[in-house]
Amino acid sequence: MGWFTKTTEPREQAALPDLWHVCPACQAHVFKDEWEAALKVCPKCGHHDRLSARERIGLLVDPGSFREFGTEILPSDPLGFSDAKGPYAAKAAAAVKKLGTSESVVVGSGNVEGTRVVLAVMDFRFLGGSLSTGCGEKIALAIQHAIDFNRAFVMVSASGGARMHEGILSLMQMAKTCAALQRLERAGLPYVSILTDPTTGGVSASYALLGDVNLAEPGTLIGFAGRRVIETTIKQKLPDDFQTAEYQLEHGFVDAIVPRKELKARLAQLLAFRMK
Ligand SMILES: [Zn+2]
Repeated sequence: MGWFTKTTEPREQAALPDLWHVCPACQAHVFKDEWEAALKVCPKCGHHDRLSARERIGLLVDPGSFREFGTEILPSDPLGFSDAKGPYAAKAAAAVKKLGTSESVVVGSGNVEGTRVVLAVMDFRFLGGSLSTGCGEKIALAIQHAIDFNRAFVMVSASGGARMHEGILSLMQMAKTCAALQRLERAGLPYVSILTDPTTGGVSASYALLGDVNLAEPGTLIGFAGRRVIETTIKQKLPDDFQTAEYQLEHGFVDAIVPRKELKARLAQLLAFRMK
């Protein structure tokens, strides 16, 4: 067959295993195994990719020591909210089913290098890690558990802010969680807050930045309103590093930036210092 008359039927391709991860920051192609072994941190540029709540718990807690509670607390739909993409209740139910968590936060107790603590770990994949009545209730429950059992409280935030589908009731969770943290403080128990990408909106404006110690992963977006909203409002260009963990460290909102591979050891060091 002549070259010009060849048919252009697609050639059969054998399904190739997905071997590569493409870094969203530097576009480097990295072997997926290598990238996962590096805790989803790009070996070329150090970009910290987002982790699920369960991956994060696996990273921070001693193997086999995590005991989850509060799984009976599910999303509620007090407003019967619906938008162009359908009812909120259906979206929330789909997230519960897909991610295997009852809300945008997983709470439980576990050991960090032998020290028993209570943890609340947010999952950004669950409706943007949004703070809802269920999420606020789970965090308040975890804090109360820490008080009851005389343990430190560790919060890992990853959130776009309050869940608009629940209106003012989601905003009320800011006050509710802060009140619970005040009870923790009165009980003389430490609170370590770990800020991961992104920590914004009502979460950054409430419990995420109230830690006795606030730690952040490198490059984490930390802020309240988005860059575009602020620039449009104040009619000024913001610095390039605005709302990064590094910027917040320089301005006193964050106490230390800790690379992911050092996070557990740093947390254990802080807990050992405060819980002995
Ligand atoms: Zn990279």
